[in-house]
Amino acid sequence: MFIVLLISKLLFMIASAETSVADSTSVFRLPDLPYEMTALAPNVSEETLRYHYGKHHQTYVDNVNKLIVGTRFASMPLDEIVRQADGPLYNNAAQVLNHNLYFLALAPAAVAKHAPEGPLAAAIKRDFGSFDAMKVQLAKAATSLFGSGWVWLAENKNGNLVILSESNAGNPLRHGLTPLLGIDVWEHAYYIDYRNDRARSIDQLWDVIDWQVVEDRYGKH
Ligand code: MN
Repeated sequence: MFIVLLISKLLFMIASAETSVADSTSVFRLPDLPYEMTALAPNVSEETLRYHYGKHHQTYVDNVNKLIVGTRFASMPLDEIVRQADGPLYNNAAQVLNHNLYFLALAPAAVAKHAPEGPLAAAIKRDFGSFDAMKVQLAKAATSLFGSGWVWLAENKNGNLVILSESNAGNPLRHGLTPLLGIDVWEHAYYIDYRNDRARSIDQLWDVIDWQVVEDRYGKH
């Protein structure tokens, strides 16, 4: 009986210790992707996904987990860290969020929804003239962004849509905007498959963007 009690007590202590760690420190992890590493080929190859998601994205996650230890950011949600942090923590946290948004908006061409419907489709027509005109603007922003960065379709507080070009890890949250769709124009996103041809990589990306996901992000605040 004593031994049973002792074991119970030990188990309770272990469980409590784990709970207190979870309460005080966020541990971020890669999001599970709803598709296989081969599923976006040939638009995005398995090799690109394995490096981009498995190594680059993972490294940003690992860096955030190291940088928040013992700071006021330790128990903060990711989007709040992106709003408030500066320097290396901002760069890495924004890259985690950016890549979460990016990878989760992709889907195999056979199952992706290839154009938005409903309120997002209406807002795109209102703010850009047409879906095709919006795609042209987004692609133009992506090809003309100098160096590494992101182009974003984002939403302001009134539900109006804007296209943003951001250097490095820039995220629309820093401008009080809601990110809907991010296009990664860092070379690591396309160099394996398209070498220096960023324009062609964007052109090939449209087929694997799932507009159902983007629709679901619109008008949520
Ligand atoms: Mn990237």
